[in-house]
Amino acid sequence: VNVDIHAHVLPRSALDAYASRRPWHGFDVSRTDSGHVLLQSEARTMRLESSTFYWDRGAERVELMDSWGLDVQVLSVSPVMLGYDLAVEQAVGLCSSINNDIAQMVQEWPGRFAGLATLPLQSPDHAARELVRAMEELGAVGAQVGTHVNGVNWDSAELFPVLEAAEATGALLFVHPAEVRMRGMLPGYHLRNTLGNPTETAVAIASLIYGRALDRFPSLRVCFAHGGGVIPWLAGRMEHANRVRDDARLPSGRSFADYLASLYFDSITHSPEALGYLVDAVGADRVLLGTDFPADMGQTRPVEWVKSLDSCDSAAVQAIAGGNAVDLLGLRARTP
Ligand SMILES: [Zn+2]
Repeated sequence: VNVDIHAHVLPRSALDAYASRRPWHGFDVSRTDSGHVLLQSEARTMRLESSTFYWDRGAERVELMDSWGLDVQVLSVSPVMLGYDLAVEQAVGLCSSINNDIAQMVQEWPGRFAGLATLPLQSPDHAARELVRAMEELGAVGAQVGTHVNGVNWDSAELFPVLEAAEATGALLFVHPAEVRMRGMLPGYHLRNTLGNPTETAVAIASLIYGRALDRFPSLRVCFAHGGGVIPWLAGRMEHANRVRDDARLPSGRSFADYLASLYFDSITHSPEALGYLVDAVGADRVLLGTDFPADMGQTRPVEWVKSLDSCDSAAVQAIAGGNAVDLLGLRARTP
């Protein structure tokens, strides 16, 4: 079974709102001249500009998955829709719709999709409740969360109720960069994505480790987008700081590499060498195939790509392509 842990979707209630020209949780849904999705409110615009594929309701997606040898996609919304800056009430309604829509899509195509919930993290209590609802009533396998919540990092105790709920329900947290804080120092050239996103992800990983979240919630399972960003490459430097600096001492005497190997990472590195390095650093049982579908920065034909890697033997390929996700998420193979 081949599983894509990192795939984005536009909720169908947004598509319905577009079709019937009704607002969707305070946003007008429109289609740009180039075919992209635009969600606009007075205060804010969400632009899904990297693909026109978001208009598909599932049929074309399944066709493409078949041609790529993908059995299952684990669906999350485009991270521009995380909406942590919205008023709590608006965010609660938005997340609830998104989660219901994804659950419906999972039901409609048995065995082909699994769902990651979206949480109103600007209110950690609401977020924890919505995570429990998604896991227990909607059959979600986890939630997609941002690398930070309006500037609050994952070492902050105010977010711990969410980690606690994730541990208690067995939810996988999939951490994805959204609002890139270093944007102001980047001169364009899509560096917001190519440099900013992997740096955001590294900050989230370091915050989670230094904030003792992994010591406090030992059964917590967290997967990071884009191969963990820049942090696998910096693990030696982090470990050196752990040894020589009091302010960079890791909790509980564990090494940085040890903490890193207790996390999960998707395979989206766009480099066989980088993926081989990640697998060497954390183990083939910690890496999950991802595409970032349908983003233009994603990996096409992912199964073929992973199989072509010299750095992975056939057992590692099988684990990365789906075995790890099946174990982690309790997915069942679809009946033919
Ligand atoms: Zn993504």
